[in-house]
Amino acid sequence: MIKRSFFTLTKPRLEYDLVEPDPKEPKQIPIPSNLTLLLNEPIDSTRQALIKKGDAVEKGEKLRLYNQSTEYTISPVTGTIDAIDAYSDDFGNTSTYLVIKNDQSQASQKEPITYDLKDDIASADEYFRTLPGAPPLKILASDDVKINTIVITCADMDLLSTTSQYITLKFLDDIKEGAKILKKITHVPKLCIIIPEGLNIQGGFDSIQVFKTSMEYPSNLPAMILKDHLSMILPAGKTPEDVGVSFISAEAVVSLANAYKTKSAGFEKILTVIGKQGTQYRVKATIGTPLHKILNAFSVHINEQDRIVIGGPMKGFATYTRHHPVQPDMDTVMIQDRDIIPELSDNPCVNCGKCIRICPVNVPVNVLVRYLEADQYEEAADRYDLESCIECGLCAYTCTARIPLYQYIRLGKHELFKLRALETAND
Ligand code: SF4
Ligand code: SF4
Repeated sequence: MIKRSFFTLTKPRLEYDLVEPDPKEPKQIPIPSNLTLLLNEPIDSTRQALIKKGDAVEKGEKLRLYNQSTEYTISPVTGTIDAIDAYSDDFGNTSTYLVIKNDQSQASQKEPITYDLKDDIASADEYFRTLPGAPPLKILASDDVKINTIVITCADMDLLSTTSQYITLKFLDDIKEGAKILKKITHVPKLCIIIPEGLNIQGGFDSIQVFKTSMEYPSNLPAMILKDHLSMILPAGKTPEDVGVSFISAEAVVSLANAYKTKSAGFEKILTVIGKQGTQYRVKATIGTPLHKILNAFSVHINEQDRIVIGGPMKGFATYTRHHPVQPDMDTVMIQDRDIIPELSDNPCVNCGKCIRICPVNVPVNVLVRYLEADQYEEAADRYDLESCIECGLCAYTCTARIPLYQYIRLGKHELFKLRALETAND
């Protein structure tokens, strides 16, 4: 729910949506004939690949590009590899996509491969990184990162989404079971759980500390949870993992519980879909399903210049293709009609100060954006707190001149990261 203030000098109050008390089952989207999986590693044509077009794959089979690859994906179906090609994200980072042609004669009856699973984090990381909810197993298994607190989030990060709350209401026992498994395999001393204050659930989390978050945006963002509940201020340019805290979604914890029960991977992702009129739907779709299959199921038609946004209204990003696949960490998909897309402009800042008043971490956004517009990323970081930004998007939401502040900030951070990596490489 978005409530704008009538008074220009007060902050608009944005509230998270609360899941309905007795939610219906999500609509099941049939497994499509082709699924697209993303692999976080670019193709290297000088190396001999382990997989190629035409190879048969089994449901649950682990797929890697090269012998030395540490990145992998898991096939959600039995079938054949129909394509392997380069994929470029909105910042120009390249990775790889695989198209798996689903052998529909086998898909429905075939059980996934079972794994030789041990009760340790290395074993979980070997098979379960791409479970629905994308558990942060790579970080938890890393020798370079010392995690001493795991935060299970049953609260949705962006507005309009209710995916995490739905999962919490429906699968609370699995969350408790998954939390026990997490504790056993990671040996992390402290586990906490974040519950939205409006969500009515039964407690009984044993040694897990329960925190209730406010319904006001952006209280569910990791930096805010660290500050409000763990009394930690996230230093500029650092991630929660840098300060020893790992966040994991309720869905990822449920997926882990199921994966340990069956010794196999699950592939069904729950998503909140927000139609053009703001109507909310809940779906269950196999990872790799193209988004247009979901939209068709609800007769949502995409016209030219309509926008498909992955994520919610504050933190989401637009994708240019209806074929974009469902990903393990994708909680929300939003369709914006071309007639209601908020207009952005290249108007100059009018120094109204709204962005500064609303910023939860006091970034001087109006000055910062001038440096970002001029591609002065180092100055933006050193003098105007670029890296203190927690990426809530409130400044862009409130900007009088409709400057795409959030996009400038995300791009600025990305360019700064590249600059610093280059400097390190040249040292
Ligand atoms: S997105 Fe804008 S309002 Fe939010 S923390 Fe960053 S600078 Fe502040
Ligand atoms: S950047 Fe936008 S919100 Fe901030 S002072 Fe300028 S016009 Fe106002």
